[in-house]
Amino acid sequence: MRHTGNATVAGHENALMVLKSVPSGMLIGGSWVAATSGTTMAVEDPATGEVIASVPDASPRDAAEAARHVVEAQRTWSSTSPEERSEILRRAFERMTERAEELACLVTLENGKPLAEARAEVAYAAEFFRWFSHQAVALGGGFGRPPSGSGRILVMRQPVGPALLITPWNFPLAMLTRKIGPAIAAGCTMIVKPAPETPLSALVLGSLLISVGLPAETISIITTSHADTVVEAILKEPGIRKISFTGSTEIGRLLLHRAADRVLRTSMELGGNAPFIVFSDADLELAVEGAVVAKMRNGGESCIAANRMYVQRSVAAEFSSRLANRMRQLRVGHGLDADVEVGPLINAEGKAKVEALVDDMLQRGGSLLVGGTRMTGKGYFFAPTVIADVPPQSRVLHEEIFGPVAPIISFDGEAEAIALANATPFGLAAYAFTRDLGRAMRVSESLEAGMVGINTGLISTPAAPFGGSKQSGLGREGGDQGMSEYLETKYVRVNW
Ligand code: NAP
Repeated sequence: MRHTGNATVAGHENALMVLKSVPSGMLIGGSWVAATSGTTMAVEDPATGEVIASVPDASPRDAAEAARHVVEAQRTWSSTSPEERSEILRRAFERMTERAEELACLVTLENGKPLAEARAEVAYAAEFFRWFSHQAVALGGGFGRPPSGSGRILVMRQPVGPALLITPWNFPLAMLTRKIGPAIAAGCTMIVKPAPETPLSALVLGSLLISVGLPAETISIITTSHADTVVEAILKEPGIRKISFTGSTEIGRLLLHRAADRVLRTSMELGGNAPFIVFSDADLELAVEGAVVAKMRNGGESCIAANRMYVQRSVAAEFSSRLANRMRQLRVGHGLDADVEVGPLINAEGKAKVEALVDDMLQRGGSLLVGGTRMTGKGYFFAPTVIADVPPQSRVLHEEIFGPVAPIISFDGEAEAIALANATPFGLAAYAFTRDLGRAMRVSESLEAGMVGINTGLISTPAAPFGGSKQSGLGREGGDQGMSEYLETKYVRVNW
């Protein structure tokens, strides 16, 4: 199978313009600077494998400097009024919306996702700024009288302090705004460390924030290929008070160990392995469309992507064949091509993992309904794939595939579906399709996941608490809870 490799001319022109708007350095102490060593790292277009830009490759020394600056800026920043911070966020939302097309092009260029999805990501990312602009002026607090009646209890909410924000490459803007939004709203300064595959969106977002009035000293953006030693250097700075991390469970666990040494506040948005359950009473058309969304958003490279599809036996053949037909129609190619629905995977390693998990399913006896093939041409493409009758020992039932592959397993009863869905150490998202409200409620309550989609494959919104249970994470982003992650509670006892 061959993918369409030619980007549209208009898409290319926009993309070239956008690359010119990327700041030439990283952001430390209010200035755009090179790495002190002078070294840079290359950024690739995953659809072609070609280098599109280079950015500074920070060393631990640069990182320590950045940490010192944001710690110094904390006191002044936390004394700004909630209204001032709210207005910065509101302007950032508006500026992102005005520059949506340009930002979407940049996301497509460095991440590979189709332009339509990149536009949706920009809108979603901007909404976090709008949401947290409201939250900034609604911090609240408490007032109470102790049982003895003597004195009063005041409860106030204050910024946690300087935060280290580490993000992955799969949503280069939204994973950032989900952290930066509440950090600004609460009055925390921050060091941002984006993934090395997608640093350009982070740098442009930083300059956009400064252009709408965020004091430049409050945010440092460190681009680096030395995540481990750079983060270690940042955490050596005693003023850093929090880590918010989105990425794999493996790295999250490592950071939790590091955070324990310093007793830091942590928010961990980690890996998933989402079950997608279709009961025989479901609206099958809705379920197939939901499956395409839950599986194929971002080409399957999403932490809440449906990783395992459990379908009740009486409808399994029909669901599988309808899903295979839909997946067969998806157009794969360079994300800048207007008609493309599926872009490349992020890199060779991501593609190799998808290939290995597909081979494993097929070798164990899974039935290939569509796809399953490597795609020739440049870039890291894999064909949309559906595999039915996936055997229980298959690796995909225990590992995130992070690719455009839908494994289908049949089940007989509700209790069995729940047991299969919960048989994983992960608990980020889960989906269920049924017309029976009682079953929907029972299943939602029994699924061990931080988020459940009932009759929908799309659950993300800034107004809801996003996050996982079990080994999928700690804490929530978005909703009211997203703000609490950046706030400390202080109790004051007043006597007279
Ligand atoms: P990753 O390898 O864990 O990397 C995530 C970030 O952590 C990157 O910026 C990475 O930089 C950095 N990092 C790696 N090693 C580090 C270390 N020792 N110390 C500090 N930082 C370190 O994950 P990924 O492959 O980029 O992203 C995919 C994973 O993220 C999946 O498991 C997915 O489910 C999860 N995810 C979760 C959510 C959620 O909300 N729960 C959302 C999106 C993605 P380097 O690449 O330079 O190492």
